[in-house]
Amino acid sequence: MSVKEDSPHLLLSDSSQFLLVLLLLTCPTLTEQLTWDENGYVLYCPCMGRFGNQADHFLGSLAFAKLLNRTLAVPPWIVYRHHTPPYTNVHVPYTEFFQLEALSSYHRVVSLENFMEELAPKHWPLGQRRAYCFETAAQRSADKKSCPMKDGNPFGPFWDYVGVNFDSSVLFSGISFSSYHQPHWMKKFPPSEHPVLAMPGAPAQFPVSEEHVGLQRYVVWSEKMKSEGEEHISNLLIRPYVGIHLRIGSDWQNACKMLKSGDTGPHFMASPQCVGYNRQSALPLTMNMCLPDLAEIRRAVKLFVKKISARSVYIATDSESHSRDLEKLFKGKVKVVTLQPDSAQMDLYILGRADHFIGNCVSSFSAFVKRERDIHGLSSSFFGMDKLGKVNPKDEL
Ligand code: GDP
Ligand code: MN
Repeated sequence: MSVKEDSPHLLLSDSSQFLLVLLLLTCPTLTEQLTWDENGYVLYCPCMGRFGNQADHFLGSLAFAKLLNRTLAVPPWIVYRHHTPPYTNVHVPYTEFFQLEALSSYHRVVSLENFMEELAPKHWPLGQRRAYCFETAAQRSADKKSCPMKDGNPFGPFWDYVGVNFDSSVLFSGISFSSYHQPHWMKKFPPSEHPVLAMPGAPAQFPVSEEHVGLQRYVVWSEKMKSEGEEHISNLLIRPYVGIHLRIGSDWQNACKMLKSGDTGPHFMASPQCVGYNRQSALPLTMNMCLPDLAEIRRAVKLFVKKISARSVYIATDSESHSRDLEKLFKGKVKVVTLQPDSAQMDLYILGRADHFIGNCVSSFSAFVKRERDIHGLSSSFFGMDKLGKVNPKDEL
């Protein structure tokens, strides 16, 4: 009798044990004590520019970490609050906007925050935190031998956010972040002696180099961004919709003035995305491509609204939305929407999901949207340039 009574209990506990093991095996958060990667790490501050620039740099840095077979410590995004108190930068963990796991199908990553919490105390201990930088960068320091890791904003606040002070500096020169120099890096900084390469800026180019554009594929929106974004789209917009990015604020007006002098050539900030990466065959960069005037905005929007029979237009802007003008243009037959969300990323999400996107060729903010749309086979154009030629002449073969 007692045996009979016991056996169901035994069975139950067996199966629950089995379930527990299964759970531990499949659910990484329960088991995953971060283990130290003997191949080393790359750490950097996304210290140049705002989101678009940081995103360009991120793709290159991801590629660089893979090139050296080191784990990338994924930094938070630096968000500047120049106009809102308390005016200090906000450091937004990568996972707030995007999925860390999605990066893993390309290369090993850990968030910088987790690296500091779980790995640094033991493996990158206080007193042994070396900074790595170009000799030219160290020239600016008082002794000309120290990397300017924490000098000024955003550098100081960034490393303070993760609680890092640097103890010494290692300088290099005559080396770049391109794959050509991979053997040099390996020889100069073997992970056994240099486990953590911490740098003052991204080990990458701006704008993102052509070979790394496709890494956008691994930058996947977080579930939170997706659900909030989809909610905005279904509440505000009617498909099909055209999404436009107006980069027309005063900082941009100043930047585009440089085109007038003619010194810039076709390559100016993110412009290789539309004029082509090859300097010899690059198309001319016009003022309307950098700073479209209202006539050009109206012309391009009208063209694509007609082309895709759009029922609404979404305007993302750094300043004015011109929504009244566009409403008038369509005599109320097309819904014109502007959200001006607190987070710029929400604009990026909504632009990324549009049925057609009209961006600013020179803007890295637009470039983020364009790359994402290309991955998903969605159509894009730029102000001042309706027909996107083959940006890469190699594609024509
Ligand atoms: P770039 O200067 O255009 O190459 O792009 P960046 O991202 O480096 O800097 C522009 C910044 O201005 C963005 O990161 C945003 O903070 C802000 N911004 C520009 N355009 C928009 C927009 O359409 N919507 C929102 N919300 N912010 C924008
Ligand atoms: Mn910028």
